[in-house]
Amino acid sequence: MNARAGVAILGSTGSIGISTLDVLRRHADRFRIVALTAQRDVETLLEQCLTCAPDYAVMADETAAEHLRGRLRAAGRSVEVLAGATELERVAALPEVAQVMAAIVGAAGLLPTLAAARAGKRVLLANKEALVMAGPLFMTAVREHGAELLPIDSEHNAVFQCLPPEFATAGLERCGVRRIVLTGSGGPFRTTPLEQLPEVTPDQACAHPNWRMGRKISVDSATMMNKGLEVIEAHWLFGAPPDRIEAVVHPQSVIHSMVEYQDGSVLAQLGHPDMRTPIAHALAWPRRMASGVAFLDFARLATLEFQPPDFARFPALRLAFAALAAGGTAPAILNAANEVAVQAFLEQRIRFTAIAAVVEQTLERVSGRAAETLAVILDDDARARAAAGEQVAARAVEG
Ligand code: NAD
Ligand code: MG
Repeated sequence: MNARAGVAILGSTGSIGISTLDVLRRHADRFRIVALTAQRDVETLLEQCLTCAPDYAVMADETAAEHLRGRLRAAGRSVEVLAGATELERVAALPEVAQVMAAIVGAAGLLPTLAAARAGKRVLLANKEALVMAGPLFMTAVREHGAELLPIDSEHNAVFQCLPPEFATAGLERCGVRRIVLTGSGGPFRTTPLEQLPEVTPDQACAHPNWRMGRKISVDSATMMNKGLEVIEAHWLFGAPPDRIEAVVHPQSVIHSMVEYQDGSVLAQLGHPDMRTPIAHALAWPRRMASGVAFLDFARLATLEFQPPDFARFPALRLAFAALAAGGTAPAILNAANEVAVQAFLEQRIRFTAIAAVVEQTLERVSGRAAETLAVILDDDARARAAAGEQVAARAVEG
């Protein structure tokens, strides 16, 4: 019998983490869960430790780790509980780990995801913010350390599936690729009258029509900043110049993205909007395995619609394209400002429409530079957070 592949899940208590565990449980003969991690959700991580029996559980928050330790001891379980952000990096690089699911949300995922790449792991990348912040650095680490980078973001996973295997070495041009078309549903406010947008609530913003996701990415989908981050992600993942990447609104979320070739062919990847498909694809690659996702019933697929994105409704998308064109640390500044603004909106400190305004102002005030080192990127991330914090304070709604 072949040895089972060791898996570490960074962010196992989140939406992607839970979907990953669901897929892994269907294939216990092929995969072994080495490490599970979370920020501070003790209850969920405890339940996952009891059912999955990992060797390690890491909590970024030290107090939460202490609670988890006590609860596991009381349950008579011998999971080693580690605490703090640097332990996330350590478990991502353990020799017994073959695959790392990078599913922490936001900039917090950068260092552990980078650690997995530097340890030459198969990196299943959900944490798009890591690539947005540090694209060139991250891609260099993947190359130099022989890591395997497989996209989990449904659009990028779709594009990956529509590209020929040799694209990684030959490049898009030689593979005859003309355009990468990223689809996006347009989120819950695609048809909301513009004058109502300032009044929408966090719960409305998080009620995505097609996908169940964490709250940060749900808000990003509502502003379409998510598509903007994905354009930047596609640029680095596939080596595609910005003018070869197009975002298209496709409300049904059945086509997850497409690749257009010089001869006029367009290859698309279809499926139910369920992240277990890309997760199973990446875990099993280059083979296939069951994911638990239902199969498409073509008789019930009434229509597939496409529209150009409305940049007036979704200014965040325009800002992301601008940050990509500016280059250097501009995408890291965009990402940091967006994280601060989204958090403020979720806490009802600013209006929905202030999110893009905070990001725009931050990009104007914080000058970017060449993103040569991690230190520079993290420094600009911190400068952007401080500037965005001031913007949030200036736009705070009356409590
Ligand atoms: P989520 O909020 O549901 O889960 C986030 C996970 O990260 C949790 O386990 C949390 O404990 C952990 N975490 C948060 N902050 C942390 C910190 N400071 N230190 C350590 N751990 C921390 O988010 P999600 O929806 O699962 O998304 C995760 C990532 O995957 C994001 O980058 C998102 O953009 C990407 N993604 C998600 C989906 C989706 O369907 N949910 C689809 C595509 C891409
Ligand atoms: Mg996506």
